[in-house]
Amino acid sequence: MKGFGIRDQMNGVQEPPGKTWFWELEAGVIDAGRCIQCGTCVAACPSNSIGVNPDTDLPELVKMCTGCSLCWDFCPRGGLRYESLWPPSTRSPEAEDVPVVVRSDAADPYWKLTGGPPGDGLGAVLEQYAVRAATKADGAQDGGIVTAILGAALAAGDIDGAVVSRPSDDPDEPWKGVATVATTPEELRAAAGSFYNQTMALSALDLAGYDLPERPRLAVVGTPCEIQGLRAMQARRWPTGAHRVDAVVLAIALLCTKSFDYEALMLRELRDKRGLDLDRVSKVDVIHGRMIVEYRDGQLAVDEPIKHFHGAALKGCDECADFLGRSADLSVGSVGSLAGWSSVLVRTEAGRLAVERARGRLDLRGLDDPDALALLDALDKRIAERSLQRKLDSDAPLFIEFAEHVSSYAGTDRAPVVRPR
Ligand SMILES: Cc1cc2nc3c(=O)[nH]c(=O)nc-3n(C[C@H](O)[C@H](O)[C@H](O)COP(=O)(O)OP(=O)(O)OC[C@H]3O[C@@H](n4cnc5c(N)ncnc54)[C@H](O)[C@@H]3O)c2cc1C
Ligand code: SF4
Ligand code: SF4
Repeated sequence: MKGFGIRDQMNGVQEPPGKTWFWELEAGVIDAGRCIQCGTCVAACPSNSIGVNPDTDLPELVKMCTGCSLCWDFCPRGGLRYESLWPPSTRSPEAEDVPVVVRSDAADPYWKLTGGPPGDGLGAVLEQYAVRAATKADGAQDGGIVTAILGAALAAGDIDGAVVSRPSDDPDEPWKGVATVATTPEELRAAAGSFYNQTMALSALDLAGYDLPERPRLAVVGTPCEIQGLRAMQARRWPTGAHRVDAVVLAIALLCTKSFDYEALMLRELRDKRGLDLDRVSKVDVIHGRMIVEYRDGQLAVDEPIKHFHGAALKGCDECADFLGRSADLSVGSVGSLAGWSSVLVRTEAGRLAVERARGRLDLRGLDDPDALALLDALDKRIAERSLQRKLDSDAPLFIEFAEHVSSYAGTDRAPVVRPR
């Protein structure tokens, strides 16, 4: 294993207790096919020892690991107890009198993966809307409101840039999203629309090479798991090497039940098996349980049940119970609103101010179908629960150790560690 030759020479030298090395993350998450390519480990590593393998788009060690444990502790598929990051659930307006019970038992593996029982509300929600940009960017996915909100924040000087996903420059990678920091309105608009691949978004928080002020203020757009990793790092304030987690002032989660491996979905399933010309594609969408792909001339290139593509989905997504991006400032998706609009859950004051700033650029109205959000969230949790059950059946020793390792760091909420064997 790259970078670990030195460990062979360490035989007989006692290791300080409690260390977790990158190779444990590699064994328990990456090689186990559970990585959801969020980039948290890359951003968390204080010695910048983790990079992204350009062939696999997975984390890899690029220099010596110090065994500091942080990649493991912050990994949403490793030691991160992501439900501990979610603000307490709010009551639904129809159930004002029903007290909300928020369990947080670190020893309960059920919470590790599902974050709570099915149908646990939408999380903390200050306001909720169906929203559409008055002028949509070309290629915008639904209401075009993520791009509109970021544009307004940039114009007002509230942010200096945003981590978004733009199309890859590599002609061999058509329709692949890659993470970038957009610092101009043109770059923001060029990044509108959804890519159904993970981009290791948080690795883009290494801001070297971008023209940004010394103390930049950034937005991050990411899938809920990426926002979980971000929030964990922000909450615990460990040094994060070159990655400027501290610079993020606005976190926007895209509602998400599933993401895909780029090569498996776009190249093998769509291009090779179905003969799609990816250069003609204008939009890829997963909606109402179907995969929809459209060509620029309006032709429908694919309209099939999403289950046909299950083999191309990231396996680690089965364990995810955070469809709604509970730890974000704003959660945005298509479910809950009519076609051409986006559903927006405003979760924090920062989110409320961002919407307020963009108001002149937006049409707002009440959500068309808020129940659809709760129903899909409950389904997402049930899938995660089944995934957990399969793991408990097949890999009980891993979970027995789940509660073993609670923080010894006074005053922090360091995650318990599941040690892969
Ligand atoms: C993998 C994935 C799965 C999704 N699943 C669902 C779902 O199940 N239900 C649902 O309601 N909505 C889902 N969405 C969200 C939906 O597709 C739209 O992104 C959302 O409605 C916002 O649309 P918009 O027109 O307002 O945003 P736009 O103005 O089009 O802006 C979208 C922003 O997201 C960024 N972005 C695009 N792809 C990615 C990516 N892979 N990672 C990080 N940032 C990215 C873009 O760069 C852009 O800044 C998913 C999105 C993704 C990327
Ligand atoms: S899931 Fe995220 S943090 Fe964990 S190994 Fe993969 S990229 Fe790193
Ligand atoms: S389903 Fe969950 S784990 Fe998978 S990409 Fe979406 S938010 Fe991340």
